[in-house]
Amino acid sequence: MENVVIIGSGCAGWTAALYTARANLHPLLLTGEQPGGLLTTTSIVENYPGFPEGIDGTELMMGMQKQAERFGTRTRYGVKVTKVDFSKSALTLWLEEEVIEAKAVIIATGASHRHLGLKSEDLLERKGVTYCATCDGALPMFRNQVLVVVGGGDSACEEANYLTHFASKVCLVHRRDSLRASKIMADRVLSNPKIQAVWNSVVTDIYDASKDVVTGVQLKNLKTGATSELPCAGVFVAIGHVPATDLFKGQIDRDAEGFILCKKGTYTNVAGVFAAGDCVDRVYRQAVTAAGTGCAAAIDAERYLASLHT
Ligand code: NAP
Repeated sequence: MENVVIIGSGCAGWTAALYTARANLHPLLLTGEQPGGLLTTTSIVENYPGFPEGIDGTELMMGMQKQAERFGTRTRYGVKVTKVDFSKSALTLWLEEEVIEAKAVIIATGASHRHLGLKSEDLLERKGVTYCATCDGALPMFRNQVLVVVGGGDSACEEANYLTHFASKVCLVHRRDSLRASKIMADRVLSNPKIQAVWNSVVTDIYDASKDVVTGVQLKNLKTGATSELPCAGVFVAIGHVPATDLFKGQIDRDAEGFILCKKGTYTNVAGVFAAGDCVDRVYRQAVTAAGTGCAAAIDAERYLASLHT
């Protein structure tokens, strides 16, 4: 029986591994199919404290892994948890045919950015198409350029506002004629002279995949059906997130969108099961906050395991 199994290898997972390893719990970390999580999909991380010149996302994750393994974390790569049963005190996980039992489980499966679903979007990801203004907005390629933000929620508004620090102009493309965002965020966007709202419109193509660089977008007006082109140097897609928690459906409490609900700290409704990072967090979604909750989950799990022996 494992003391603690950590599912996921983003900032939350590796930080939980570091702390549980240093508590001599010999954690087992299952990396999932995308080792390193979302950060490995961004280029340079400039907002993780301690790296004044910024750090490559993959390098940061490899550093976290090395640090966690130095204290005894055991890592299994590319394994997919196919089923869980949290109904008994021996928490059970299936890796295809293999079965693992654990006294505690830390879920750090993250969330992925919702995509527009365009082929050109995939081809130009990290070449001008991005899903995180906080991560990428300050990159030289976006400075003093026209940038497009897609979405009408708080994330899109926050990204649009943030990008005005760097861009010459930000065009906020939204599929309806009013923002879903909170009033204060919406007002901030609509009163910002550097932001132009493009209403009732969707991005139907992104140019120019053949040149490996973003040069503009094709827009379709949903009211008139008219298409137009908007030259730009970057496309920031902010149309929501999809938490990677389908596996836990019916096993732990989640909200309507699939984010895991924690009762207190990182405690889920199931004894011994803790959750951290973007699979829980619908608000902050930063590497440093994911690492913070990973640490909290490790401490909660350690105390839970200690309580089993008292
Ligand atoms: P969200 O509120 O779900 O908004 C997603 C936006 O994307 C909506 O405007 C939606 O359009 C649009 N959208 C969805 N799918 C689309 C598609 N396929 N094509 C084009 N547009 C699409 O997501 P979010 O902005 O990431 O916010 C998530 C949660 O985090 C919210 O509760 C939000 O309040 C919170 N949040 C808070 C802050 C803050 O307070 N500082 C910052 C960020 C996020 P429709 O409006 O037409 O549905």
